[in-house]
Amino acid sequence: MTGATGDRAPDGDAPATTGRVFLVGAGPGDARLMTARALELIARADVILYDRLIAEGALDGARADAQLIDAGKVGGGEQVAQEATNALLVEHARAGREVVRLKGGDPFVFGRGGEEARLLRDAGIAFEVVPGVTAGVAAPAYAGIPVTQRGMAAAVAFVTGHEDPSKPESQIDWEALAAFPGTLVFYMGVRQLARIAGQLERAGRSGSEPAAIVERGTFSDQRTIAAPLGEIAPATARARVRPPAVLVVGAVASLHSELAWFSAGPLAGRSVATTRPRAQASPLAARLRALGARVVEAPAIRIEPLAAELPDLGDFDVLCVTSPNGARRLLELVRDARELAGPAIAAIGPGTAAALRERGIEPDVVPQRAVAESLVEALAGRAMRRAVIVRAETGRDVLPDALRERGAEVEVVALYRTVAEPLDDAARSAALSADYLTFTSASSVAFFVAAAGGARGPRIVSIGPITSAALREHELEPDVEASEHTPDGLVSALLADAAARPARG
Ligand code: SAH
Repeated sequence: MTGATGDRAPDGDAPATTGRVFLVGAGPGDARLMTARALELIARADVILYDRLIAEGALDGARADAQLIDAGKVGGGEQVAQEATNALLVEHARAGREVVRLKGGDPFVFGRGGEEARLLRDAGIAFEVVPGVTAGVAAPAYAGIPVTQRGMAAAVAFVTGHEDPSKPESQIDWEALAAFPGTLVFYMGVRQLARIAGQLERAGRSGSEPAAIVERGTFSDQRTIAAPLGEIAPATARARVRPPAVLVVGAVASLHSELAWFSAGPLAGRSVATTRPRAQASPLAARLRALGARVVEAPAIRIEPLAAELPDLGDFDVLCVTSPNGARRLLELVRDARELAGPAIAAIGPGTAAALRERGIEPDVVPQRAVAESLVEALAGRAMRRAVIVRAETGRDVLPDALRERGAEVEVVALYRTVAEPLDDAARSAALSADYLTFTSASSVAFFVAAAGGARGPRIVSIGPITSAALREHELEPDVEASEHTPDGLVSALLADAAARPARG
């Protein structure tokens, strides 16, 4: 009998616990267009093999211990990369892991998902396909172009514009395409645009027919160039359109002028690098993206939970939580919520308070400014015999020292440590050429400078005075310092600075 027993078959037989591969579409660019199923599988996966063209922030929900593999980097040339990707899919699945193969748009639309499905079938590995929102529909939609429209287009064709121009024989039947009674949507056609437009005209399509090209559709910096078919190639060249972009040819392209609805946010055209650990960066990155920024995630630190023993919390008058990470780890370690019933709970600032509230704990004390000095002040009127502070392995001693000075017995419990995360060359150079580089803690300054070898180039944004002091220790002067020391405060300060200076380029 076969079945998912979870048992290993005896040696010699195929293992009964082969993993599964999910061929998942990540949508066209805006992470909010990812499907619920995609998010669920990403959150669960042991291994994620992803393509370059996936939505910004698509991997934010991955487990901290998931293995994330950039499929563009696993081999040398394009062909090698595909073979290397295939080998990795099979290897990880055979090792019993749950593998997500994440592709831009839809995996079965010009995504080689079909090839990978065949390979998996041949290897006897179970797979599932999760469709995604494809760029050929989504990018026009975000430009106000419906690909079908009653009275204008009763059909739509998706066409690859990626052809080897050195081959004499075209794979595309231009006569048939020109005769197609509906909208033509070309993928991968930017570099071949003049050739595509020319072939269509020669085969009988009119040069005055409406056309539009949508660059980086659904991203915050999406651009649309609309022009008649005969003029679309020079117009696109003048605007320096670059991939990814889709070309729409047909009457519906004229609806762009009427139905364009997507407007760029106040940070459109700006790039902002974040240096926080990946798990924490996502709310900040999501907020920046929603405002139109292009976000570069350059985490030089990672949070490593420590196997700490919590003391009996009932023995303390006050429990101080000094970071959102500390809050999360504390609540992982607490087995029974009643353990928290004894002490008054003090959060160092609004972010930590929010992390506690996420898990149903309402802090008793929250200073406005998230620095130890403010917490000490906020606790001033409170009777305190014994206090426990949960925090990172290394931290400032302001809080324990001040509480001890007041006569309290203080126990400090380290719940996690921050460790260096190497920055690859691409992340490093993207961060250093961004318009803004943001720092939300003193430790992220030290780790980023060590990993990137400096931080010169972008305007530097600091979340508050302690982070600014750390910057100055590295001879870096913050250009912007938030007056409210929270991620939202940082975003407000950055917005004000951006409003005061024109976007580059
Ligand atoms: N599987 C993907 C397509 C991969 S082929 C999908 O279903 O969308 C890559 C091509 O898709 C690019 O060359 C470009 O033509 C198109 N594309 C992908 N993302 C895009 C975007 N955000 N805006 C415009 N075109 C995009």
